[in-house]
Amino acid sequence: MKYKDLSEYFEKLEYTSSRLVLIEILSELFKETPGSEIEKIVYLLQGRLSPFFVQVEIGMAEKTVAQSIANAYGSTREEVLKLYQRFGDMGLVAERLNIKYKISNIKYPIDVDEAFNTLTEIANTKGEGTVEKRQKLLSDLLQKLDPISAKHLVRIPLGNTRLGIGDPTVLDALATAKLGDKSNRKLLEGAYNRTSDLGLIAKTLWEKGLTGVEKLQVRVGAPIRSELCERLPTPEKVIEKMEEVDVQYKYDGFRVQIHKKGDEIRMFSRNLEEMTHMFPELTKAAKKQIKADSVILDSEALAYNPQSEEFLPFQETTKRRRKHGIEEMAGKLPLKAFVFDILYKNGKQLLDEPLKKRMEILSSTIAEDGVLIRTKNQTVRDAKTLGILLEDAISKGLEGLVVKRLKSPYEAGGRNFNWVKLKRHSSGELSDTIDCVILGYITGKGKRAEFGAGALLVGVYDDKKDEFVTVSKIGTGLTDEEWREVHKRADRIKLDHKPARVNSQIIPSVWIKPEIVIEVLADEITRSPIHTAGKTDGEPGYALRFPRLVSFRSLDKKAEDATSVSELIEMYKQQGRV
Ligand code: ATP
Repeated sequence: MKYKDLSEYFEKLEYTSSRLVLIEILSELFKETPGSEIEKIVYLLQGRLSPFFVQVEIGMAEKTVAQSIANAYGSTREEVLKLYQRFGDMGLVAERLNIKYKISNIKYPIDVDEAFNTLTEIANTKGEGTVEKRQKLLSDLLQKLDPISAKHLVRIPLGNTRLGIGDPTVLDALATAKLGDKSNRKLLEGAYNRTSDLGLIAKTLWEKGLTGVEKLQVRVGAPIRSELCERLPTPEKVIEKMEEVDVQYKYDGFRVQIHKKGDEIRMFSRNLEEMTHMFPELTKAAKKQIKADSVILDSEALAYNPQSEEFLPFQETTKRRRKHGIEEMAGKLPLKAFVFDILYKNGKQLLDEPLKKRMEILSSTIAEDGVLIRTKNQTVRDAKTLGILLEDAISKGLEGLVVKRLKSPYEAGGRNFNWVKLKRHSSGELSDTIDCVILGYITGKGKRAEFGAGALLVGVYDDKKDEFVTVSKIGTGLTDEEWREVHKRADRIKLDHKPARVNSQIIPSVWIKPEIVIEVLADEITRSPIHTAGKTDGEPGYALRFPRLVSFRSLDKKAEDATSVSELIEMYKQQGRV
């Protein structure tokens, strides 16, 4: 396929504000795509050259990209930056200067392969003179592109592709293109949950059909999508619903999936990002304590003092998520990883084994007494014992418990009643916070106007429809400093129209790309005709009463990891039932 034709699709995708049209355009594109290019195109659609978990350093600074545009189109860096100030988007600058320059050699438009390979070469350029070499590669490439292609291409190294296409939407489109209907997405989901790699799934679907995709197994080095918890309000409800459970502490740190292959250790966060370099002490411990050739473990890492048996609060542990000063911080605030599951061992995928069996395998896989600590667990059948264990967890400064069905397999990417979190309920408030995505803001009056925001329009994620739906407007609880912070972050991702995956009746002053996740506490969940969360024909939606901001969660959560509509409805049903 010509890169120009792909860019025409990018252009259509950017300007649609309907998710159904998004799927239609994408599936049209996929139908035209040969097997040799499908993997690359799937990655490019997400502004990447590889799956999310592979760190390819394609990032270029704004100034470097500006210089490349200037060199390509006979302009100056100053002029490019001035236009950038005006448009707020380097893509538009490249498009405009490309038109002005009237390139002559685009009579021979380049293939997707050539653009992809040049971007890969840019990413692989290292060592002395990197900036200049990358700049030259990019400007040579820009000279071969038409205006629309230039616009979309320069956004890739800047990490700002603006297409807003979620993984479920890509899966819907792949299913429409190859399996006849988007409802067949569920046939691809198992493989997606096991491999987290849309490019691999697409390539396999093109080359080996659906049977090939279904055979895709867990691979050491590629993160498995994490199993998550449902909520229940009390020990009684847990026993009523689950009968017999395996009870574990709910540690409040980072989810870390540990992969070991021979001597190579890699670690992934809950949102599938590689974080190996951040935790040198865990790497060392994994080499020493894991008694197997290849393994995938699921764990929660946090700062813990074994002498006083003190678990440090999340605010402390979170200081370890950093890019610089890693060794120094590891010395000050060493982590322990509490291992609570094993998903793969010595060539064998263990996802379908029941939890009881996995826990047995786990106990013979890691050597005791070290930085890796096997989580304590206990089988419980009555509410009284469960209540005592909950009190014990709280008194140790933990959030509560995670209770799990002993017979359940590991459901990658699932959130259901196989795993349930149990926290202490404080009366009058919801026992748990809600993770919301900022969808836009409504400009304020008076003093607030200085910070550019009067209220935030926030939503949750509907994972069935791959849509963001509104639950609240938040105007209180933010300090001036926080407003400034919101404004700074939001203005980088401002949009001039409603994004296709947002479903809202409220029109904010400014739409933003659904990206910033905030933790919100509310008194209650109520029904509301105005909000679109859980709204169906004739039935009102759900909304938050007295919402207030607790923290920014953007570092460890993607927008799609926000609270889902089904969780919200479950919380609504459970409130007041204590
Ligand atoms: P929260 O925002 O309340 O931390 P969450 O949305 O991040 O929750 P949940 O599904 O609510 O995720 O809770 C599951 C999380 O709890 C896991 O992702 C994991 O990081 C953490 N956790 C701590 N201890 C355990 C355990 N023993 N078993 C499973 N998960 C655990």
